[in-house]
Amino acid sequence: MTVVLNPATEEPLAELEAAGVEETDEAVAAARAAFPAWRAVAPADRARLLRRLATLVEEHYEELSRIESRNVGKPIAGARGEVGMVAQVFHFYAGAIDKFHGETIPVAGGVDMTFREPLGVVGLITPWNFPLNIASWKLGPALACGNTVVIKPAELTPLSTLRLGELALEAGIPDGVLNVVVGKGSVVGQRLIEHPDVAKIGFTGSTEVGQQVMRGAAATIKRVTLELGGKSANVVFADADVERAAASAPYAVFDNAGQDCCARSRILVEASVYDRFIDAFVDATGKVKVGDPEDDASEMGPLISAAHRETVASFVEDEPLFRGATPDGPGYWYPCTVVEASASDRIARDEVFGPVAAVIPFADEDEAVRIANDSAYGLSGSIWTRDGARALRVARAIDTGVLSINSNSSVRVSTPFGGFKQSGFGRELGMHALEGYSEVKNVFYSTD
Ligand code: NAD
Repeated sequence: MTVVLNPATEEPLAELEAAGVEETDEAVAAARAAFPAWRAVAPADRARLLRRLATLVEEHYEELSRIESRNVGKPIAGARGEVGMVAQVFHFYAGAIDKFHGETIPVAGGVDMTFREPLGVVGLITPWNFPLNIASWKLGPALACGNTVVIKPAELTPLSTLRLGELALEAGIPDGVLNVVVGKGSVVGQRLIEHPDVAKIGFTGSTEVGQQVMRGAAATIKRVTLELGGKSANVVFADADVERAAASAPYAVFDNAGQDCCARSRILVEASVYDRFIDAFVDATGKVKVGDPEDDASEMGPLISAAHRETVASFVEDEPLFRGATPDGPGYWYPCTVVEASASDRIARDEVFGPVAAVIPFADEDEAVRIANDSAYGLSGSIWTRDGARALRVARAIDTGVLSINSNSSVRVSTPFGGFKQSGFGRELGMHALEGYSEVKNVFYSTD
């Protein structure tokens, strides 16, 4: 039995039967049986079904937002934004189905053409921080390409994905095409990785489990997409609008209580404006509204669990520069925390996955790039400068998959998202994601 909690109240929301290997195998068998008919659905009809799912998500917008907010402890305003994105993702991939096609390649003696074939049954394994959003990033392209799916949400946050599974059936997506299996990663996830009938694993989660996915996938040469951890840098040059950079920096690291793979949790600031930045940043951090996720005005909720709170707390060894307030009473609260660090400190190297920002001074552009790249991760990051040439120079020099200039926003429905280095590989979102859910077939047709 899995008891699903509300992390803001510590009260149970649901009790669910945890699936085992047998149930996982049944789901894979159902997905396998549904595959031939699903891949044969005419592109326009598959598009219509995905569009209907998008519309149902819109119609159930408030219900889904409440489920997500209660189960993850995220502020309702943020949950609404995420559910809005889920609908957009399904609209996007509905529209992409008949725009993702093969080529004809000039060759001697005939016609050479390529096809984009679905992979078959894909296993999707998702984390607890953005459960429905990340599910949609994988489901959209997987279903659009004609694959069938078994999705395993995180044990802590399965409720929104279960509801989405029901809405998919209501939309007319045939039985067996989208199967949701709730259970442990070490049981259900592991079985999906090993199962000979699963052609690909689309995984989002920690780098540690990502390594296990990659190792396990080797036995059956499964395709894998890995979206893993991050320790992204927010680089603020002296020639930037320092006040604007400082005012927005809290939301780049404390959003979702810091439980965000894209969190700009290392803030690198040019030494000549360091004190000015710190004053404005601490001031803005003190204004982040931490409180009841159900309150429309809340900007930060609790952490996901008591165990995770302990892990986050273990990173703050000394008295921080700033520690914010948290509500009294139940809930896994942890305050917005700002520490001054040097690039070699643990707090500046490891992913905290909580609301802790490490601020690090740098002397010049070369040092900024060196510190930004001195990480095993390479997911996202920001660059703040008014010098256009520098902005592009630094953007090209930083080894991460997603960067924003004079902004902290790097996730959009139509643009590719994914990591360099140990942040993973493969791309989600945009047209790029379709490549990870299809195989290129090359056919030569002789005209002799
Ligand atoms: P996690 O790796 O613990 O779990 C992720 C998923 O993997 C869960 O569904 C879990 O049940 C499953 N799992 C666990 N052990 C497994 C195993 N042995 N075999 C198969 N599946 C297994 O990660 P988490 O704590 O849920 O999420 C936080 C992590 O996810 C952070 O590191 C964060 O950076 C990362 N993340 C990355 C992205 C991205 O897009 N790059 C997005 C969100 C989160």
